[in-house]
Amino acid sequence: MFDLTRHPHRRYNALTREWVLVSPQRTDRPWQGQMEDANPEHQPEYDPECYLCPGNPRVGGVRNPSYTDTFVFENDFAALRPDTPEGKLDEGGLLVAQAERGISRVVCFSPRHDLTIAGMEVAALRRVVDTWRDQYVELGSLSFVNWVQIFENRGAQMGASNPHPHGQIWANAHGPNELIKEDRAQSEYHSEHGSCLLCDYLALEIESRERLICANDSFHALVPFWAVWPFETMIISKRHTTGIDDFNEAERTGFADLLKRLTGAYDKLFQVSFPYSMGFHQRPTDGVAHPQWHFHGHFYPPLLRSATIRKFMVGYELLAMPQRDITPESAAQRLRELVSDP
Ligand SMILES: [Zn+2]
Ligand SMILES: [Zn+2]
Ligand SMILES: [Zn+2]
Repeated sequence: MFDLTRHPHRRYNALTREWVLVSPQRTDRPWQGQMEDANPEHQPEYDPECYLCPGNPRVGGVRNPSYTDTFVFENDFAALRPDTPEGKLDEGGLLVAQAERGISRVVCFSPRHDLTIAGMEVAALRRVVDTWRDQYVELGSLSFVNWVQIFENRGAQMGASNPHPHGQIWANAHGPNELIKEDRAQSEYHSEHGSCLLCDYLALEIESRERLICANDSFHALVPFWAVWPFETMIISKRHTTGIDDFNEAERTGFADLLKRLTGAYDKLFQVSFPYSMGFHQRPTDGVAHPQWHFHGHFYPPLLRSATIRKFMVGYELLAMPQRDITPESAAQRLRELVSDP
């Protein structure tokens, strides 16, 4: 009898239409891979060397204001620039390139150098949510911006160069790969079924409860059925909202609350300030209605078994398809047990 908890199988990601190989029988194999330094270094409240702390100079000479909650500025080393000239290359459909216009910004979540989302008060996180919303609206209203990607890289293992709590926003004209995949899947599902892919998916998850982690009145956090990273999670709005600008008052505070509780559970998992990349997916800002889009967040943490053992996407995963050992159901159960009450 085929059993998802014992037998190798592949799972379909309904949002990206890709597959992940799940090998639950492999979790007992001996590990001789790379160990990383857990590095529980204590950060000061203010670091005179930090280019994100209030009042400090950044590379290039600009000085940060003495900000007291959130602070947004144009990235000094922007990956996207608004003054990029139009242009394209196409040689026989084989050498293809296109100019990409956009804007990259940095969002400091707090003036405090030593805080993380898990350590911030819900009221302060609510101001971060409001800042993300304002940025989504402001950048989305620009004529050359059709996609606004809000994200955070947390921890040295994710390549975050600075522990100061901050994220980034990249806004550009053409659809990025992951968003194009999810746009297609949600659009086609919507026209085939007459309903929303993520509303229907969330209903199935609530019915089974196996992969739910925590919830409040406005959001659910869960390990998706098709998770690739060991402790990958999604935050999905209970109400059908297409973007962060659709949130009502209660939802804005609810989102802050759920971010705090989920990252708090992560930190307890391996007793370390948990590294991750996280970000939000929402409708394009091209001025057209996108009722098929359902706002959600993704967390992609690299850790596998401890603060020092991480997963690598190598070998078969790089050449063929992603694979995981620990099942999404057991990952969800472990996180669920670590969630604090609000
Ligand atoms: Zn700082
Ligand atoms: Zn929906
Ligand atoms: Zn997504």
